[in-house]
Amino acid sequence: MATSLLADPAVFGTVAEQVATFIKILNEHLGLGKANAKVVRSFVKMVTKLPYDADFEDTRKNYPVDRWSDDYMRSIIEKPTGFRPDYADEILYYLDTTELEKKVRALVPTAKDRLSQALRVFDTNIGRANLAEWVGDKAAELIAECSERDFAHEIAMEKVSLARQALARTEYENFLMGEAQGLCSFTSCKKPLLANSSGKPVTDVEIVIIDPHGDTASPTNLLACCHDCAVSYGPEPSPDDIAQAKIIKEAQQRNHKISDIVAKRDVEEAIAKVIRQLPDADQADLNIEITEPLRVRTKLPDPRTVMLANKILGYVAVYFCYIDTVLKSNELVRPGGFDAFARTVADLFDAMDQAQAPEPEIFTRLVSWLNDQTHGGIEACEAVISYFVQNCQVFR
Ligand SMILES: [Zn+2]
Repeated sequence: MATSLLADPAVFGTVAEQVATFIKILNEHLGLGKANAKVVRSFVKMVTKLPYDADFEDTRKNYPVDRWSDDYMRSIIEKPTGFRPDYADEILYYLDTTELEKKVRALVPTAKDRLSQALRVFDTNIGRANLAEWVGDKAAELIAECSERDFAHEIAMEKVSLARQALARTEYENFLMGEAQGLCSFTSCKKPLLANSSGKPVTDVEIVIIDPHGDTASPTNLLACCHDCAVSYGPEPSPDDIAQAKIIKEAQQRNHKISDIVAKRDVEEAIAKVIRQLPDADQADLNIEITEPLRVRTKLPDPRTVMLANKILGYVAVYFCYIDTVLKSNELVRPGGFDAFARTVADLFDAMDQAQAPEPEIFTRLVSWLNDQTHGGIEACEAVISYFVQNCQVFR
């Protein structure tokens, strides 16, 4: 006999009654069909998946969706009889609840609220965030409960979890690899997820679930990494590991957002030319003292940014007046060119600030953006961004 995970039948009804109630609720909120036989068939279809060789007829004839008559299908919710043990075993064999979960996940927020409200007859802790997974788990649990196989629950849970992982892989692998910039997400590893072996591309990518108690099919809860790191992270990471992985994920999401922000901004060639000429500045034109107060210290008062503040101060001391003169007066810059450039830098800063990137990251990002745009070299670009810190477009 399967171990029962089900609640007290006195409160929730027999398993057969629960199956009927569950399918009826799903039908009311997901629209599984008009006739009861069709409703049950649709339910079975959404919790099972044909293997790839399904086109061969001998496989198809065992597929539980097509196996039984309308009368039997109807009786499951009308009598209610539940799934007969042999039928439950057939469903268990093909069990994959991701289609059902996808359908729940696709509901609009108010429809999700209505469905979770209706499902509270089973569990008072259902919310919008865990709804899709809860529905998938419950479907698997009820089917396992109808089965008489040993370890039916364990088999069901294993199948559900494998199917979710497979779905996450196919749906989000490319996206997650992009977020990880093609490298293993774990800071201590950073192994390339795509490599070349004798001219052939080799992928070594796994998708791990950051927090197994969260929505395990949501890309915000998934991380791309190499096989070894996936094995060491495991399916049941410690709270510390989860916290670490969440920090990594947040940084990736921020980077991704900032890359988007930065991607569309270019710098006029005239400005780029000025920046490229910075390293050739005449020493006599540098180190000119500036008359206004130095703003860096008040803008970056946090002790954690003291290195950055000192670096900016150094650039301001040497280059501020020079950059001010060449950027504003250089004949290569068309009228309004400097203002447009200053506005672009200010806009980029605002967007990164709104993405809640920390100051050193913003500085680095602006510098690498400017360098990508101008090929002026990291130091020249650091000098220019430092100029904008003092000139107020960057940091508050
Ligand atoms: Zn790794």
